[in-house]
Amino acid sequence: MDTQKKKYVKPIITKQKTGFISKFGKTGLLTVLENIDGVSIEELVEKYNSPLFVISERTIRATQRKALRIFKTRYPKVQFAWSYKTNYLNAVCLIFHEEGSWAEVVSEFEYDKARLLGIPGNKIIFNGPHKPKSALLKAINDGALIHIDHFDELFSLIELTDEINKTANVAIRINMDTGIYPKWDRFGLNYENGEAYEAIRRIMITKNLRLAGLHCHIGTYVLSTDAYKMAAYKMTELYKRIKYEYNYQLDYIDLGGGIPSRNTLYSYYLDASVSIPSFEDYADAITSGIIEHGLKSDELPLLILESGRALIDEAGYLITSVVANKRLSNGKQAIIVDAGVNLLFTSFWYKHKISTTEFYGEVRDESVIYGNLCMNIDVLRDAVYLPPVPVGKQIIFHNVGAYNMTQWMQFITPRPNVVMIMEDSSVEIIREAETLEYITQLERVPKKLQKK
Ligand SMILES: *Cc1c(COP(=O)(O)O)cnc(C)c1O
Repeated sequence: MDTQKKKYVKPIITKQKTGFISKFGKTGLLTVLENIDGVSIEELVEKYNSPLFVISERTIRATQRKALRIFKTRYPKVQFAWSYKTNYLNAVCLIFHEEGSWAEVVSEFEYDKARLLGIPGNKIIFNGPHKPKSALLKAINDGALIHIDHFDELFSLIELTDEINKTANVAIRINMDTGIYPKWDRFGLNYENGEAYEAIRRIMITKNLRLAGLHCHIGTYVLSTDAYKMAAYKMTELYKRIKYEYNYQLDYIDLGGGIPSRNTLYSYYLDASVSIPSFEDYADAITSGIIEHGLKSDELPLLILESGRALIDEAGYLITSVVANKRLSNGKQAIIVDAGVNLLFTSFWYKHKISTTEFYGEVRDESVIYGNLCMNIDVLRDAVYLPPVPVGKQIIFHNVGAYNMTQWMQFITPRPNVVMIMEDSSVEIIREAETLEYITQLERVPKKLQKK
């Protein structure tokens, strides 16, 4: 039991400012976070330095299991495939694979990474607009699921499988109007203008191509569940058409990713926890779009999902430390922390939830959080109500597990440690902090510039 007396905080009166959210709105987002999964943040910083990325094994597993359960209770045949580009640190991928996920990759680099982690070809979904010949050959030989993006790729596959006389497992990526604008039509083949079906016809008459499924990925951070329902409906319509026209049953339809995480977009006034549909809502929409077609249970396709951000964002934290406090010329409070936008790419479009490790009183002032780069664009948050946080103390950014540890840039400073808090609360480094030697090891100095 906590027997410590609460600290006395002097009552204060703050002037109401019209146009700003009260403490129940924006300012309420600031919470005190002393530890992550029982591990003290202060100790983490002492041992692994600041800034520091932290990933929670417990949260990954819990989120993945919950998501799978939500889909499996609504549809009998479900398979998840982990979207590597969302976070391809080996430890992260291995947890998803242990939980039963296949790999979803979009480049030869990611393909090789999945193979190195021991994922067999038939559990790798190979998406993306550029699959070099070398990568296609590997994928054909490994029996990977190659998702064709355009006709040129289809023609190369026909050529390659002919050359080596092997059958490739393929699907086509389909883009369609789901009511999401601007339309995502740069990837895949179009549904409405018949392009997708033309590709299907060509595949069906090609000896060495086996059509295994249909794929779409309608966007990212898609807020409309109706869009998913429409996508699932149209995909199943194609699936049925192939079934009746060719008397051929595809293995799967793949609805891609794009389900939002609990992060709030800059353009949104209300917090994501109250403004975005739940994971259940998305699962309802997708599965009902398929089920509405009235297929019998043995006619139903396997439903594949490639959810990325919704499954990993909440497992990630970025711990930063305050370097300085300033007042800008307009009187606004400015806080400089030791990590920049090169590490927290997603701060360009999200208002990440923020915590401090201690309670610094009720007085909060509109503040801007700057990073440590000598660049004007380096703003981690342009307006947030914060108490004065002392130099050396931590500010923690929540929900940073998706797209930061893959899109981060080495810029001005080396990238920091990434640790994982394991289920038993032990801490493991899963990616070491970069060093000067690491960063310069690929550089070569021309002879005439070398010191004699
Ligand atoms: C990026 C991507 C995903 C994952 O998207 P999220 O928005 O993170 O869920 C899934 N499938 C494909 C093809 C992708 O390109």
